[in-house]
Amino acid sequence: MKAVRLGVPHRAIRPVLGRVLRAAWNPGLRGPPPCERRSAGRNRPRFVTSALVFVLTCFSAASAEIALRVTRPEPAEILSVAKGKTFVIGVVEPLPESLECNGAKCEVSKDGAFIGYAPFEALPSPVRQGTNECDVAFEFIARVAEEACTNRVWCVSPRSPFAARAAEEAFLPPKPVRVLQDVWLGVRRGEIGRMLFAPEGAFFQATSAGAEGWRVRLEAREEAVLPLDLGEAFAARDRAPSAWLIEEREGLRVAARPLGGGDAAPSSGAPCLWGFDFEVENGRAKILPRPPPDALSRRADGASPLRGWRICLDPGHHPDRGAVGPRGLEERDSNLRIARETARLLRAEGAKTSFTREEDPLPLRDRHRRIRDLEPDVVVSLHNNSVGENQDPRARHGTQTFWVHPWSKDLAEKLHAAMLRTLGTTDLGCLRRDLYLPRYPGCPTVLLEPEYLILPEMEACFLDDAWRTKLAGAIVEGLRDFVLARRATTPPSQSFSQ
Ligand SMILES: [Zn+2]
Repeated sequence: MKAVRLGVPHRAIRPVLGRVLRAAWNPGLRGPPPCERRSAGRNRPRFVTSALVFVLTCFSAASAEIALRVTRPEPAEILSVAKGKTFVIGVVEPLPESLECNGAKCEVSKDGAFIGYAPFEALPSPVRQGTNECDVAFEFIARVAEEACTNRVWCVSPRSPFAARAAEEAFLPPKPVRVLQDVWLGVRRGEIGRMLFAPEGAFFQATSAGAEGWRVRLEAREEAVLPLDLGEAFAARDRAPSAWLIEEREGLRVAARPLGGGDAAPSSGAPCLWGFDFEVENGRAKILPRPPPDALSRRADGASPLRGWRICLDPGHHPDRGAVGPRGLEERDSNLRIARETARLLRAEGAKTSFTREEDPLPLRDRHRRIRDLEPDVVVSLHNNSVGENQDPRARHGTQTFWVHPWSKDLAEKLHAAMLRTLGTTDLGCLRRDLYLPRYPGCPTVLLEPEYLILPEMEACFLDDAWRTKLAGAIVEGLRDFVLARRATTPPSQSFSQ
């Protein structure tokens, strides 16, 4: 992959027209939430964030100074030069008559939040000798009273940081890697329906390690990617991996077998209507099917169908901040607000709610374990969407819902339909996709992307209390529909003997 690292060191801002004034950001505009967490966990070189706040000064006496803050690209963000186009978002004040970035028109909302889809290219001359870094320029032109104010953001960007690192870190022959914590992984190649359970202490042969993680070899040319922080290189050789391939069969049944042979005897397929737990003891694996929750058999007595249900809400992200809107709303904060509002409405219906995290961060890799401890009946993970840099965010946006296991599908469909009905958004699909969080096997688990936070008008919605209540209401409605449908289709005498 050809990529550049994008950053804006203060010395690299070179005004073409006008002067750059190092003015403080206008506090009247909505700034990002407190940013003590902003840079957590970043190893990349960082540049001065305030360099992204600048003032375009027009020479015309008639025009005012225009302040422009670019929210994305962020300092040190990786962009792909090969794609050559990216979305730019931010806030401009006061409102210009028009705003362009690299010749592409930006749409500007009434409050100054803007979005554009701008072409760019790496400029030929390296900025720092011997570092293989290059410039990328974003030139903004704001028109006020027919005068053009121009400024140019210069970005320093190492040409191919991933390519260079992969070459350094790739190794052959395969290197043994030990798993540091129980983890569920998706199996690459073929459809979803095969997962890997790797208990702490399992061994794999890793063929490379890159930004993505340890690429570990399974069998039949299948592979999985183990997050870097969950594995460590180990000196032992020729150790068989002590991990289990889990296969979903006939929709609601699962079976496990040890990877690469071995003397362990995994349990045979078991009915799995609600989900399952998986245990490894003395090298033996056991699938423990989860029966439907007691609340399912409770019949209507005038109370809400959600009474007694244990619903776990997972506000996506944190410590990472997720997507960011033009005004600086961070996805992790938005997700938590939606989760809290949803929980309020659910409790009013007699449901018991829990959160995977609130103010304290919880890395994605630790969330399955947290969910397992909470023992919920269903899990709803809340997100706000963004797009990759090479996609035009204007071209396609709307509501998406994701699920992994067959027993999560109807929950996903009910929630998806309720969101479309209530929000009137475009249907981008209720899709089976191998994502980490909904891979949780213990109960129906889905991930919601109600809309795209990077769009100015949608960020405004996410910031709006009434809109958020509407979204939370849709989630509650979807859960109700799910419970009623499951009640109707689950025989009361469902047996779960293994
Ligand atoms: Zn997200």
